[in-house]
Amino acid sequence: MGINAPNSKYFCLYCNCQSNLRWDMDRTYENKGNDACENRKLAIFPAINQENYIPDELHLFLRIVDVLMECFFNDLFKKKEFEKKIKIEIEQEMQKIKVHFEFFKSNSTGGKWNWTSLMGPDKKKVVEHFPISKFISGFRGIEIEKLWRDFFNLYQILRKPVLLDSEIDKFEYDAKNWVRTFCQATEGTPNSVIQKPGLYRKQDVTPYMHVFAQHVHQFMRQLKQKNLALRFFSTSSLEKKNHNHVRLFFGGTTMGGGIEKKSVVHNIMSFENRQLFYLINKTPKELKVRNINSNNKRKSN
Ligand SMILES: [Zn+2]
Repeated sequence: MGINAPNSKYFCLYCNCQSNLRWDMDRTYENKGNDACENRKLAIFPAINQENYIPDELHLFLRIVDVLMECFFNDLFKKKEFEKKIKIEIEQEMQKIKVHFEFFKSNSTGGKWNWTSLMGPDKKKVVEHFPISKFISGFRGIEIEKLWRDFFNLYQILRKPVLLDSEIDKFEYDAKNWVRTFCQATEGTPNSVIQKPGLYRKQDVTPYMHVFAQHVHQFMRQLKQKNLALRFFSTSSLEKKNHNHVRLFFGGTTMGGGIEKKSVVHNIMSFENRQLFYLINKTPKELKVRNINSNNKRKSN
C-alpha cells in the first residue's frame, strides 16, 4: 500500500481501487485482492491465502490519527499568531490531558514546524479529548472536533473482541460516512451565512482511510465466522515488546555497553530469559541479609 509506491495507481492490497478514487465511498470494493497492478510483486508468503492478510488495527489507528493531526496543524501554521500564541496554547491543552507535546523547528525539514511524535496511548488521549473547537472557529471547528471523536468511537468498536452483525453493519455505514465528512465539499455560496464549510480535500484521504472504511467491515464479518476478531491480529503487543526492549537497552546498565562481545539482541534476549526463569521458579531477585546474633542463639537454646 501507499500512494507514492511504484504500484501507486492501484495502491490497495485488497482490491482494484484506483488511487484517484480512494475517497469515493459510494462504490463498494470487495476483498478480492489486487490483480490490476501490472508490476505487482509476488506475495512474500505464498502459503498464506490472500484473505488471511489481516490489516493491523494499531497502524490503521496510528496513521489515521497522524493525518488528522497534520491536517489540523497545517491550518494553524498559516496563521500569523501561531508562534507567539497558538503554539503555546496547544502545548498547554496537551498538558491538561497529560500528554507531553511540543512544537519545534527542525533543520531536516527545511525550518518547517515539526512536533513530538506520540505513541499509541497518547494519541488515544488526544483524539478523544483535545478541544479542537477552541482553535478553529465556527461550524468547521465543531465539525472537525466531531470528526476526531467519531474516529475514536469507531476505533473502540474495531477493537471489540465480540461484535454483533448489527454492530458490524453500523460500523460499515458510519466508517464510510466518516470518510465522506472528512472530505466533504463546501456547500452554499462562499462567505454567505448558510454556507456549510468543507473540512479537507479528497486528496487528503489516505489508503489507510480507504482500508478503514471499505475493507475493515468485511474482515470483521470474515473473522466473526471463525470466532475471531481484528484485535487478535494486532501488532500492538509486539510493538510494546519492542518498546520494552529498547528501553531496557538504552536505560539499563545491565547490558554492559560496548565491552560485551555478544550482540545487543543476544544480551537483551538472555537478560529476558533470566527474568522469565526467575519468575517461573519464584527466585527472589534480592538477597535478604539476616543478622544472626550469637547471644540470642544461646538464649533460645
Ligand atoms: Zn481497497
